[in-house]
Amino acid sequence: MSTVVVQALTKRFGTMAALEPTDLSIESGEFVVIVGPSGCGKSTLLRAIAGLDAPSDGRVLIGGRDVTALAPAERDVAMVFQSYALYPHLTVAENIAFPLRMAKRDRRDIAAKVAEIAALLELDTVLDRRPRALSGGQRQRVSIGRAMARDPAVLLLDEPLSNLDTSLRVRMRHELARLHQRLGTTMIYVTHDQIEAMTLANRIVVMAQGRVEQVGAPLDLYRAPATVRVAETIGSPAMNLLPVRIARAGAAGAAVMLPDGATCGVAAHVPAEAVGGAATLGLRPEHLRPDPQGPFGGEVELFERLGPLSFVHLGAGGGRIVAQLPADWHVALGETIRFAIDATKAQLFAADGAAYPRITP
Ligand code: ATP
Repeated sequence: MSTVVVQALTKRFGTMAALEPTDLSIESGEFVVIVGPSGCGKSTLLRAIAGLDAPSDGRVLIGGRDVTALAPAERDVAMVFQSYALYPHLTVAENIAFPLRMAKRDRRDIAAKVAEIAALLELDTVLDRRPRALSGGQRQRVSIGRAMARDPAVLLLDEPLSNLDTSLRVRMRHELARLHQRLGTTMIYVTHDQIEAMTLANRIVVMAQGRVEQVGAPLDLYRAPATVRVAETIGSPAMNLLPVRIARAGAAGAAVMLPDGATCGVAAHVPAEAVGGAATLGLRPEHLRPDPQGPFGGEVELFERLGPLSFVHLGAGGGRIVAQLPADWHVALGETIRFAIDATKAQLFAADGAAYPRITP
């Protein structure tokens, strides 16, 4: 395992910046998950760390060593792809052994390593099969096994589970978490999947438009997204984001006005000069509580029962609000429901998208 440090790393394709100058510091043994909308630069960042694409500018350091000019094989990293990228004509054992053969390792060492990996990834019974005779989950395990064969200091994974069906995904997610606990290898993992990000990551990196928006522990990002873009990315269902005007601001907090004239208190430090200006109010669905006098309301458009809890979707003044309700709550389509929220739970974002600092109780 190794640290990974990225300094002012930049990637341009012609005049288009796929990666704006980016700094990131990953600790040895960390599991870091990179999330963000399609095209925001996640794969570009991962591929630059792997050495598959040369950056336009900046440096990559692995274990303190500047590897920017080195080929992928010289970086002590391995990459797992969404497509598995297995050799179809080689058996499982040969696929896992391939990087060791290339490195001209001793035959007995190779056999021992393949046996060790096969046991770890439960591939012992399929070692003689070719990839086409494997299930999707087994193929992905072989591709992880091949990446692990050389005990890389850093394992890079680009949406490794996205071709699997839901139940297999859940199992493989647990296996990856266990693998990381056992091996302690530094892992950098790109995904679109909220649950993978929240459950696997020590820290999540949220990217948007070629930039890192925020880096932090999953729950810190969930509780206090630093920007509207992070709020849009972290959480499922997503945080409600409502256009508001700032009505008052003071040392004790602020008040905002909704499009229909209702007001809501927010425990945030808002400068006096922002009063009258536009802002965005962020409300997590689980923080809204039914209250007939509450400032948020609308007609029920959709009601989803998930078993332990339910979500109600309200059409509210041209926008939409999603609120979480107890499983046994009864609502009728078209019914109007109102909600309130504690001032300490709401998040307020300035017109430029940055969150106003919260007032902690
Ligand atoms: P996704 O989640 O859809 O995989 P991503 O966040 O991984 O997206 P990247 O693949 O890193 O996004 O791409 C970032 C931007 O760079 C995109 O606008 C993409 O079209 C562009 N891009 C990527 N590779 C190339 C290339 N070889 N030539 C030109 N543009 C590219």
